[in-house]
Amino acid sequence: MKIYNTLSKSKQEFVPLEEGKVKMYVCGPTVYNYIHIGNARPMIVFDTVRRYFEYKGYDVNFVSNFTDVDDKIIKKAIEEGVDASVISQRYIEECKKDMEGMNVKPATKHPLATEEIGGMLDMISTLIDKGYAYAAEDGTVYFRTRMFKDYGKLSHKNIDDLQAGHREIKVTGEGGKEDELDFVLWKPKKDGEPYWESPWCQGRPGWHIECSVMSKRYLGDEIDIHAGGEDLIFPHHENEIAQSEAANGKPFSKYWMHNAFLNIDNKKMSKSLGNFFTVREISEKYDLQVLRFFMLSAHYRSPLNFSAELMEASKNGLERILNAVEKLRDFKDKVVDKELSQDESAKLSEIKELVKKFEDAMEDDFNTADAISAVFEMVKITNSTVDENSSLGFINEALDTIVKLTDVLGIITDKKEEILDSEIEALIEQRQQARKEKNFALADKIRDELLEKGIVLKDTREGVKWAKA
Ligand code: AMP
Ligand code: ZN
Repeated sequence: MKIYNTLSKSKQEFVPLEEGKVKMYVCGPTVYNYIHIGNARPMIVFDTVRRYFEYKGYDVNFVSNFTDVDDKIIKKAIEEGVDASVISQRYIEECKKDMEGMNVKPATKHPLATEEIGGMLDMISTLIDKGYAYAAEDGTVYFRTRMFKDYGKLSHKNIDDLQAGHREIKVTGEGGKEDELDFVLWKPKKDGEPYWESPWCQGRPGWHIECSVMSKRYLGDEIDIHAGGEDLIFPHHENEIAQSEAANGKPFSKYWMHNAFLNIDNKKMSKSLGNFFTVREISEKYDLQVLRFFMLSAHYRSPLNFSAELMEASKNGLERILNAVEKLRDFKDKVVDKELSQDESAKLSEIKELVKKFEDAMEDDFNTADAISAVFEMVKITNSTVDENSSLGFINEALDTIVKLTDVLGIITDKKEEILDSEIEALIEQRQQARKEKNFALADKIRDELLEKGIVLKDTREGVKWAKA
């Protein structure tokens, strides 16, 4: 299996630290609002990576944090006049609902920064003891960037170029530093902010230290894969490497994987640019499986431009696969158990070839786009082969294969479809229109469709009322 490693800038064979096991850490969101679909890209991509490892029989320990202490969370808490933890707890819950909708598996562990402060104090103390960090007069603790000889190895930046003062690549920090490249590990509290006691000052951690600490605690000093969006390469992941390797004296992560951006009009979708859709907004219009399918239709290292057209195409593509599965399930109850025909045996060999094609695509740095096309080819075969004369053995084998592979992609769930209020209203509107046009057949069809989903319509003098049966 080959993985593109940002560290070596090349595709490398995957060799786990421990046979049969994968230790994987994915940087999670800062929780001060609903997540947008840009944030959803790493969630979907790395969940699919995890699922493929599991399909191959690996035992995956998958850790992904929630950053629940941060300037933006504090700002929102002050605006609402509540505690910062009220904001973070609220959006962690909402984020988990979105993840469930997108069929992203819960991590083995979702640590919270605020629950790991002890570990952060320990690592900062170790760094100070080893001379890699120092406390300034006001109690801010900085990492001595120049002390870490490999600084820049992930982002392939030269430390002297950083000093030359390219603003856009400067490491963030505050006053009282020995060197402008030094970055913050611990900072003093400001009025009204959450804070913790520490040997240096009452304060709170810098952002980078949390991932080094949580990764160490739940996965150990050395891990297989560390991942996130490509904006995290610098400075976040570069700083994580400096902290972890300086403190632990061991290489941190063997492979570093980064997804490209989800764009809109070819610009990165982000909260600060205001050009985003939340996952929740998308869920009003589409099943979130469609969003997942859309994300996987491109290679994770290629930029992906969000558009209504591509979402429609994804919806149709996904439906084609779902319909094929439905058809196989339908015929399963209708056919008899008999010997495979010659044609069926030949078709099963073709399907086996396509499984190989699927696996080859996934093993070439998780090329989900090609993996999906292998599934489409299978669907084409079953659609043209299966009818009431098929043998049960053929149907079972084809169905099992398609379900197994689509489960790696996470695009099929058996959850009951929940109909949204807005969808009900839209259907009622369509039915009214149909009645106005005296298209009673269509009006009845819509009524039946709603009934099937447990929605009962009542025509009253005030208009149409609906209720859940
Ligand atoms: P944040 O909450 O900003 O720290 O982002 C959480 C995760 O989403 C990180 O891995 C980011 O790299 C990723 N991310 C944010 N915006 C985008 C985007 N437009 N496309 C892809 N990934 C993104
Ligand atoms: Zn991180």
